[in-house]
Amino acid sequence: MTKLKPGVVWGDDYLTLVKACKDGGYALPAVNVIGTNTINAVMESAAKNKSDVVIQLSNGGAQFYAGKGMEDSLQAKILGAVSAAQHVHLLAKHYGICVILHTDHANKPLIPWVDGMIDHSEQSMKDNGRPLFSSHMLDLSAEDIEFNISESERVLKRLAPLGMSIEIELGVTGGEEDGVGSDDIDNDKLYTQPSDCLMAYERLSKIGHFSLAASFGNVHGVYKPGNVQLRPEILKNSQALVQETCKTDHNPLDLVFHGGSGSEKAKIDESLDYGVFKMNIDTDTQFAFAKGVGDYVDAHAKAFKHQIDPEDGTPYKKQYDPRSWLRKGEESFIIRLDEAFRDLKSIGKTIAE
Ligand SMILES: [Zn+2]
Repeated sequence: MTKLKPGVVWGDDYLTLVKACKDGGYALPAVNVIGTNTINAVMESAAKNKSDVVIQLSNGGAQFYAGKGMEDSLQAKILGAVSAAQHVHLLAKHYGICVILHTDHANKPLIPWVDGMIDHSEQSMKDNGRPLFSSHMLDLSAEDIEFNISESERVLKRLAPLGMSIEIELGVTGGEEDGVGSDDIDNDKLYTQPSDCLMAYERLSKIGHFSLAASFGNVHGVYKPGNVQLRPEILKNSQALVQETCKTDHNPLDLVFHGGSGSEKAKIDESLDYGVFKMNIDTDTQFAFAKGVGDYVDAHAKAFKHQIDPEDGTPYKKQYDPRSWLRKGEESFIIRLDEAFRDLKSIGKTIAE
């Protein structure tokens, strides 16, 4: 089996990794990050589980990375993503695993964000011989299908020469992720049409590599059980239609599972058979980070109110030092990620040499 150098993968190495996942019947967790604490926790967890991983930023995560106080929010979203990418490029190889660097949902108003990040990858290609990211997502699923595909073609024409890939969305993932999406969608829109997948394949695979977030009832966020009716057979039917029409190998589409938090394990399992190589996780890891910090604050409540104990004079410096409680957040985040690596069957499967 082909082994890769540890670090950020792009171009042919990215394709090698995607193929290794699909051939091996496993997928990679794609974890939303917002700063160095979460980025380092993802890499630590991947290294511990000997798995490759996807690190991704939403537009809000990228803005937060640059700093909430930055005035121009588009600029902050672009520069925050660039800064996070540089951090990962520098450190990932030292964790001994392969990392796919990606950005999450960009709807129509966020197209300039994606174009701005591509400008930086073009510059990085000139300066360092590599792009900044492995791929970007363009989510025009709320627009009509023709606009969705033609705009994805335009963006992929910029990405392909840089060895970068695009992720698109067909059908709508329910709920909302960082302001993109809506809770108020017709039920049948929650399920992608196989004919739309075929059209995307025919038009985009000519230009470069694309992956597809196909909706099969997935919803962002965690809701009461029973709210979500996952139908992974939609993925199977889409694969079959493309394979038959375009005379391709088995499972020609590289599929992405959005809204994976809180999903039934059996449905996750089934989706792996149908060509899913990436499953997004955000809500559950957000909660895990918060719970790790919250438990610590509960256990050391006085240290979060007083520098020195008002009664007995005990100094609390060690407890309120942000490294103490941020680390508790990281540790709890890592424990939740252990579960994701297990669910997606990627433990021990890193292809880093
Ligand atoms: Zn999503």
